[in-house]
Amino acid sequence: PAAAVGRHVIGALDDREALLDVASSAEVVTYEWEGVPASAARALEDAGHRVEPSTAALEVSQDRLAEKTTFRNLGIDVPEFADVPTLEALHAAAEAVGLPAILKTRRGGYDGKGQVLVRAASELDAARAALGTSAPLILEQHISFDRELSILAVRARDGDTRFWPLVQNTHRDGILRTSRAPAPRLEPAMQALAEALITKLLEQLAYVGVLALELFQVGHRLLANEMAPRVHNSGHWTIEGSTTSQFENHLRAVLGLPLGRTDTRGVVAMLNCIGDLPDAASVLAVEGTHLHLYGKEPRPGRKLGHVAVTAQDVEQLDSRLAQVTEALGL
Ligand code: ATP
Ligand code: MG
Repeated sequence: PAAAVGRHVIGALDDREALLDVASSAEVVTYEWEGVPASAARALEDAGHRVEPSTAALEVSQDRLAEKTTFRNLGIDVPEFADVPTLEALHAAAEAVGLPAILKTRRGGYDGKGQVLVRAASELDAARAALGTSAPLILEQHISFDRELSILAVRARDGDTRFWPLVQNTHRDGILRTSRAPAPRLEPAMQALAEALITKLLEQLAYVGVLALELFQVGHRLLANEMAPRVHNSGHWTIEGSTTSQFENHLRAVLGLPLGRTDTRGVVAMLNCIGDLPDAASVLAVEGTHLHLYGKEPRPGRKLGHVAVTAQDVEQLDSRLAQVTEALGL
């Protein structure tokens, strides 16, 4: 999709010449996918290019073990977890973490791929086989959360930091389906806690740009699931729903410009279009909707676009959401 808006260089992600070619005409290099090899980001840094968010942030977010360890070291609560370097370690990990648990590949997972739920010890070997016996794994306690939330923040080069309100997210088959902002019945104490948690990460990583932190709410606690060093799907609502969108503030931050205000306009929901393209006319017939399509080929399970639904209050949003859900055939 980005080819539509800039010079398009085609090359492998570890093709040094192609990377330097792209960077040669850029003031700053940024990314919107944490699958970019850290070595590629470092090669650009070493060649004197500014890369934001930094390679250090990219590296932490690429490895679930490094990520959860970083969270824990910063005093951010996480589900119990254990490293699984070998088959024997898997059984010991299950003892330590407890079951049910989720076995995940340490690297490369997205949209719930590379994960298996394990309910009983008898399922451990099959779970490991399903993920491939050579991939490094992590076992995580399965959390019966009240709901899933995410917090997005942006930090400028001078340390100025802004937050958007906590977002409530629902997933199906490991894929984000809907986000609502602000999260319904959001308590100020919960917002303050989430801001404190993400601030620890922003400061620890000397972070520049937008950072997303995915959280599980359990009572009054927030457990950190993972972070994304980039603009995030659960922040797409900010295009229509915030004074400054996550995209604009990310660019402002990485370019060293002042950040924009992050006040929310009314209440907003975001629905992902997954697998099939929606019927634009029926979606847009509902008041308050905005349709964004990414120009991708339809494929099962692929995020092809999203619908933002804006409203003045929760009641109006619920009614519009019901109409959009029907228009999308969900
Ligand atoms: P994405 O790229 O979509 O954020 P991902 O593939 O990187 O996802 P996770 O965010 O770790 O993987 O997991 C996807 C979803 O699976 C979570 O949003 C949550 O619904 C569920 N999940 C993951 N870990 C746990 C856990 N420890 N306990 C309960 N549910 C979990
Ligand atoms: Mg996730």
